[in-house]
Amino acid sequence: MKTYGIDIWGENNYIIDQGKVKVNYKSSPSLLEITQQVRKTNLRGPLILRFPHLIGKQIDMLYSNFRRAIFENDYNGKFHAVFPLKVNQFPEAVDAIVEHGERYSYGLEAGSKAELALAMAKTPLGSPITVNGFKDEEMVTLGFMAAHMGHEITITIEGLGELEWIIDVAQQCNLKVPNVGIRVRLQSEGSGIWAKSSGLSAKFGLTSTELIEAIAMLRENNMLQHFTMIHFHVGSQMQEIATLKRVLREAGNIYAELKKMGADNLRAINIGGGLAVEYSQHPSTRMRNYTLEEFSNSVVYLLR
Ligand SMILES: *Cc1c(COP(=O)(O)O)cnc(C)c1O
Repeated sequence: MKTYGIDIWGENNYIIDQGKVKVNYKSSPSLLEITQQVRKTNLRGPLILRFPHLIGKQIDMLYSNFRRAIFENDYNGKFHAVFPLKVNQFPEAVDAIVEHGERYSYGLEAGSKAELALAMAKTPLGSPITVNGFKDEEMVTLGFMAAHMGHEITITIEGLGELEWIIDVAQQCNLKVPNVGIRVRLQSEGSGIWAKSSGLSAKFGLTSTELIEAIAMLRENNMLQHFTMIHFHVGSQMQEIATLKRVLREAGNIYAELKKMGADNLRAINIGGGLAVEYSQHPSTRMRNYTLEEFSNSVVYLLR
């Protein structure tokens, strides 16, 4: 029987039983039965079936892995996470994520003005919001409003121009100043299909010279205390754990240097994405050659 590699990518979420694909949850309904029931309501395809229990399961798995790694490594820091809204903005997904994530203070990441508006509406106060991607002055102002509303928000700049906007808005508006993050451009190349978004040839992030300039600008404008986070992204679908280890060492060194330069409130390294999804149907062509356990262990061990 052809199983389409369900044992490779299925993570036990689906089972094959008597020739039928079944959802491995509660009464284990088969996809065929579900389709037949939907047909009875006169709905026609194509249709997407969503299983919100899988969202809950993934969130639990993420946090329990990092909690275990933090405990085993005797690490003093904490793990926080944000869901990047660009992955899925549909209410069916976002509401399930926010509802299940609230117990962990799981937050949202916004990469555009529309996503920021969505994050402001959906994120419970106390859970983090991070803002990445291209920003104009209007978007920066929206970030200040979110901070003023009481959100735990960090605006991550990808260039010095964006920092100028943050300084301008801080001087012009009488609003609470959000946390400032800086995307750093690492020497190490990432891997995977989006590798070009990291590494020295990358379009995004500040070089070490620009970083020094950013610190000077923040200091001159009395805003250095708002600088709390550095960010990097190894590129999506990272295939090998060695890539992560390399960039974590580099990012850790930059973090330490910035602390020495007087960035006293710097307290977070946002390691972006990269954690791959296994799409492969064949054992010989795995897209992810590591487990979430190895991923979380590497992050906590190396940053410690
Ligand atoms: C897309 C994105 C992520 C998620 O990255 P994946 O590699 O797709 O998981 C995380 N952080 C930021 C800033 C992103 O833009």
